[in-house]
Amino acid sequence: MRQRETEPLDNVIRIQEVELGAQPIDRFLTISGAEPIARAKRLGEEMSSRLKGRAVWSVNSTATGGGVAEMLRSVLPYVRGFGIDCRWVVIGGSPDFFRITKRLHHALHGSYGDGSPLGDKERAVYEDVLRANAAEISGLVRPRDVVVLHDPQTAGLAPALTGLGAIVIWRCHIGADDPNPETEVGWRFLEPYICDAAATVFTRRQYVPEVCNHDRSIIIPPSIDPFSPKNQEMADDVARAILFHTGLLGGTPSEVLPTFVRLDGSPGRVDRRADVIRLGPVSSPDAPLVVQISRWDPLKDPVGVMWGFARLAEREPDLEAELVLAGPNVHAIEDDPESASTLDAVVDRWRELPHGIRDRVHLASLPTADLEENGAIVNALQRQATIVVQKSLREGFGLTVTEAMWKRRPVLASAVGGIQDQIRDGTDGLLLQDPNDIESFATVLGRLLPDAGLRQRLGEEAHERVRAEYLPLRHLTQYAELLERIDAA
Ligand code: UDP
Repeated sequence: MRQRETEPLDNVIRIQEVELGAQPIDRFLTISGAEPIARAKRLGEEMSSRLKGRAVWSVNSTATGGGVAEMLRSVLPYVRGFGIDCRWVVIGGSPDFFRITKRLHHALHGSYGDGSPLGDKERAVYEDVLRANAAEISGLVRPRDVVVLHDPQTAGLAPALTGLGAIVIWRCHIGADDPNPETEVGWRFLEPYICDAAATVFTRRQYVPEVCNHDRSIIIPPSIDPFSPKNQEMADDVARAILFHTGLLGGTPSEVLPTFVRLDGSPGRVDRRADVIRLGPVSSPDAPLVVQISRWDPLKDPVGVMWGFARLAEREPDLEAELVLAGPNVHAIEDDPESASTLDAVVDRWRELPHGIRDRVHLASLPTADLEENGAIVNALQRQATIVVQKSLREGFGLTVTEAMWKRRPVLASAVGGIQDQIRDGTDGLLLQDPNDIESFATVLGRLLPDAGLRQRLGEEAHERVRAEYLPLRHLTQYAELLERIDAA
């Protein structure tokens, strides 16, 4: 990542431009077949000539960790592969700004968060920070450039950038299945900034708020990159070597090297270790693993996963499975101020588990200094998992769910938000109807763990589902159609 020279409002506010490579869409030939690739290329050429001389900007609030950064990193190189000047800028903010935007994030999910107000004082902080960011960004963006602003953190840039003559799209990755007083509070806060956007993009139809209930709102779910270090093919013994090296798996060291392929095609090697909190021995390579990988966020319910697993272990004293809760190093994600306190809370609850159960619950913070290395560790952990769980209480769209499905893992996830579109219950995964229902979570886990046939069937279907629905080809096609529509308007 390259840090741009800016004149910051104060020492904490500065924008960064994230460097992006270019990738040819032809890479998908073996996955998607010739005809879809030919169609995508035609669209790409059209898009490229439509955008001649114009840049397409993505603006969000973190370059590392979380679904939006992950998605931008996955999709944008293919846009650049069409010869389009596609760029990515990360805004800066103060701790107070990110506290307010995290509160907004909770509100749009329909949740109370820290319950702090979202009134005039908060609006003033939000606008001041975004005004400083807009001043920097306006040195880069030209009239008729397309700017895609992501999530509540950047929504307040829309009026200034529209004022410059840019075409502004606001894309929201979160939402609530049903409106409630919290969602009202959130949308009231954001309404003045987003109502004049050229288009608004949501992950699901149910997420479109009243204020965006017009023909400029469209639905585009995210996608994953099957060639990234996080999702690329990885042999079982390489996955184990990576986990052994990282300190997540025991056994005897093998000759196999903990390697992966970097985004630019060069060889990569996992060098760093995870920071693991555990009481018992490191897991044996043969132990069945139940794995949840998420940011340390209360809405991912890591404590609920732990309790559900503990409930199963109480019911089945001979249970061989172990639980790994993994997340990024808590200092990694600039726009998520809650992660350290969430991990602390998980550790506190973990200490309350009986010894015999605590022995087999591992809390892992994964190294993030090298994001591709981090991705390779996530890849290895998802592949080693017997079952991947995502027991979120709310979820706009669970990238971790799609990532695990691509790896043919059976996924047990809450029937909330976008996960309900991603998994068809009983076909390509299993859904937990009530995400707070610890007993049912334990029961379904207990049913799936010993049933190798069911796990395999769900895993195969899951892979096929991702191939059909959640790869960049579909995503890029929808963006091309959106651009065509906006330019025609
Ligand atoms: N992730 C990661 N490293 C970690 C933990 C999570 O790269 O240590 C990634 C995970 O693989 C996924 C993203 O962070 O790609 C989380 O996206 P998701 O949509 O599941 O949740 P969000 O964080 O956006 O709420």
